Amino acid sequence: ARPADADRPTLPPAARPGLPAGEVDTPALLLDLAAFERNLDRLQARADAAGVQLRPHAKAHKCPDIARAQIARGAVGVCCQKVSEALPFVQAGIGDIHLSNQVASPAKADLLARLARHARMSVCVDSTRQIDLLAAAVRTHGSTLGVLVEIDIGQGRCGVADAPAVLRLLEHLERAARQGAGLHFRGLQAYHGAIQHLRDAAQRHQQAALAAARAARVLTALQHAGVACPVVTGGGTGSVAADLASGLYTEVQPGSYVFMDGDYALNEPGPADQALRFEHSLYLASTVMSTAGGTHVVLDAGLKSLATDSGLPRVCAVGGGATGHRYLAANDEHGIVQPAPGAATLAEGEPLWLVPGHCDPTLNLHDQLVGCRDGRVECIWPIAARGLSR
Ligand code: PLP
Ligand code: MN
Repeated sequence: ARPADADRPTLPPAARPGLPAGEVDTPALLLDLAAFERNLDRLQARADAAGVQLRPHAKAHKCPDIARAQIARGAVGVCCQKVSEALPFVQAGIGDIHLSNQVASPAKADLLARLARHARMSVCVDSTRQIDLLAAAVRTHGSTLGVLVEIDIGQGRCGVADAPAVLRLLEHLERAARQGAGLHFRGLQAYHGAIQHLRDAAQRHQQAALAAARAARVLTALQHAGVACPVVTGGGTGSVAADLASGLYTEVQPGSYVFMDGDYALNEPGPADQALRFEHSLYLASTVMSTAGGTHVVLDAGLKSLATDSGLPRVCAVGGGATGHRYLAANDEHGIVQPAPGAATLAEGEPLWLVPGHCDPTLNLHDQLVGCRDGRVECIWPIAARGLSR
């Protein structure tokens, strides 16, 4: 190479396998592989014991390597929330993806129908127009899609209200199918996001039971109308113990259990959650970049590397141990930290690990996940669907 080319600066990797975890260039998203694997094993074992299929939500991790680890343990596939988000998973060879969401434009329906030529795909609907868009797209691409009607079981987000509304959509779907569209009714999606973060375990379980009962009423009415619903899918990390025990769900779709985050850690576990305690496996590695302020120190990790919509991060030592330091405020690229009273001085250059308040939007800020085990970097996984929100 000519000297000018040889000298052209490029971004060095944040870490290489074998590097001590405390020496990763920061801010960087770290995965404690041992805790991560325990989380995966724990939920898979409980789902297996309950005879319920696990279809983890990939919006939490956006990472095909993690999807593979979930499927290797027995997950039937993954959920994605957006059509574009599914693309890197299809490209990575993930063979079964449920889009747990509605598609309301021709361009999105078109991409979904194209993906369905390469993987078994399903999608939610709650309107006849969505069915028409999907029908046109699968006709264009000669592909087939599973269709789940979403019902609203109390969240007040997407989904139709009752069995008659489901039956009206099924009529429309059957008409499209008779006209040659490769659309197949697969069942119901019944998800209630608002109950996931109820702190009180008794209240959380009670609300999950009420939501499941609402879904069960719709299911029973459909059965009386002679409609078979092979799949009832839903549930999240906060309700999964209740969902597995409900007898309603054939499939659950929690996402955050992989990492746990500061917000989910505030959920009080009840007796039914004991076997499903998930551990923090996700940390944002940061570095003390200034101590000039005297009473506070400044970290190199703020809003651009950390979501704060569900609270500020908890400050840990390298490895995840508690410190008592308080993260007070996040600026774009600065984090203001008040050292724990009586703690040893925090020195400039010192690494600290942060537990993000909310895992999903934090993952979306990073290109890579640095996997660590026994204090060393083991692998670097692309967060391939990062930013893909179309
Ligand atoms: N399913 C749907 C439809 C969701 O919207 C979500 C999260 O918002 C999940 C599953 C997974 O939830 P969690 O990450 O809380 O487990
Ligand atoms: Mn979330």
